[in-house]
Amino acid sequence: MSAGKSGQRPLVRVRGLRKSYGGTLVLDGIDLDVREGEVTVLLGPSGSGKSTLLRCVNHLEKPDGGFVEIDGEIVGYRQDGARLRELRPRLVTRQRAHVGMVFQQFNLFPHMTVLENITDAPVAVRGLPRKQAVAHARELLARVGLDGREDSYPRQMSGGQQQRVAIARALAMEPRLLLFDEPTSALDPELVGEVLNVMQDLATSGMTMIVVTHEIGFARKVADTVVFLDGGRIVETGPPADVLTAPRHERARAFLTAVL
Ligand code: ADP
Ligand code: MG
Repeated sequence: MSAGKSGQRPLVRVRGLRKSYGGTLVLDGIDLDVREGEVTVLLGPSGSGKSTLLRCVNHLEKPDGGFVEIDGEIVGYRQDGARLRELRPRLVTRQRAHVGMVFQQFNLFPHMTVLENITDAPVAVRGLPRKQAVAHARELLARVGLDGREDSYPRQMSGGQQQRVAIARALAMEPRLLLFDEPTSALDPELVGEVLNVMQDLATSGMTMIVVTHEIGFARKVADTVVFLDGGRIVETGPPADVLTAPRHERARAFLTAVL
């Protein structure tokens, strides 16, 4: 963590975020700041609302209350229910373009080559000339350690390689923010490290990231802030040295004992 980061205004501000499914409250008033260049690791037991929170930040879910602000633009509603601003489709589209997401199951297009997977959205959505998109894709492949794999299909690659392609694909949209939802949970143990290394490189290069993971070693090394979620609330937050070493909340202690 560098001292400079703490002075900047947050790239992401989440305030009073609430979300229910049916009658079940899944996010119960989340407040979260993520500054530019910071890595926030979200920890918490299964069902605590981690994925839902990421999906709200990415506007894949519409919150029932509160709001998500990205780079000063607010999407959502005030906590008191007063309408702050409509969920305007154009604003949502613009914000989503700033936010990349990497999923547990990679979600690559199986019928497309690696190169097509990476260039598809930049060409189709951003209107980048194909040649430029291809050149950028090759740079990104080198960056994730997959030089020369342009013409492979996802099924010809290991899970770790596919996940690195998924990261390159997200980067191809030049996001301001990258969200990771348990990016290594579907991988064989020997492939976890290569993906975490790429993520650590990204963090070092200054990418702003929110990462849901159970990889405590990664959190300790890379996170600026660790946030512990339980029952849709943030029960503990702070630098990894505090939250991971001396959690004050009973549920956080029990969780850490179980995953370590
Ligand atoms: P986590 O990622 O921490 O495991 P989730 O955000 O996926 O937690 O889920 C939190 C709770 O919300 C769980 O109880 C889950 O069953 C419920 N939930 C998540 N998505 C949906 C959905 N689309 N419809 C109904 N319930 C959902
Ligand atoms: Mg989840």
